[in-house]
Amino acid sequence: MRRMSLAAIVTLVAVTGSCRDLAVVAPELPPSAEPLAPLAVYSDWWRAAEDCSGRSAPMMRVRWFVVRGSDSFAYQGTRYDGYWWNGVHWIMLAEGRVQDPGIVRHEMLHDLLGRGDHPAEFFQERCRTVVVCNEDCRAGSR
Ligand SMILES: [Zn+2]
Repeated sequence: MRRMSLAAIVTLVAVTGSCRDLAVVAPELPPSAEPLAPLAVYSDWWRAAEDCSGRSAPMMRVRWFVVRGSDSFAYQGTRYDGYWWNGVHWIMLAEGRVQDPGIVRHEMLHDLLGRGDHPAEFFQERCRTVVVCNEDCRAGSR
C-alpha cells in the first residue's frame, strides 16, 4: 500500500515535470475513475486523427481513465461522454463510450491539437468524418 502511494507520487512528479510551458497541476479525477488500458484499435484511431488533423504525436503520452457503468459521467457539474485534460494528456471516457470511435477520436483530436475548444477547421471540416461533433462542439465551446 505504502509502495503504491509512493509510485503514484513519483508518476505525478514525472508527468508534471514533463511540461515546460504550462503550470500543470494534476487534475482531480472523479472518485469512480479507474485507469484504462487503451484498446488495441486505439492506435488505428489515433492514426486517423493524426491524418485528418495533420498533427502528429506519440499516443503513448496519453493516460486513459474510465468511469464504469454508464454512457456519461458528471465532472465539475457537467455531464460528459469523454473528457480531455491539457498538459497531462489524460483522457477519461464513460465505459459505454470506450469502443465508440467518434467519441474516442474526438478526445484524441483535443490531445493532438493541444486545446480544449473545438475549432471548426478541425472538428467540422478536416476531421468531420473521423470525430463526433455535437451541439456544444459545433458552438465551438468546451
Ligand atoms: Zn471536445
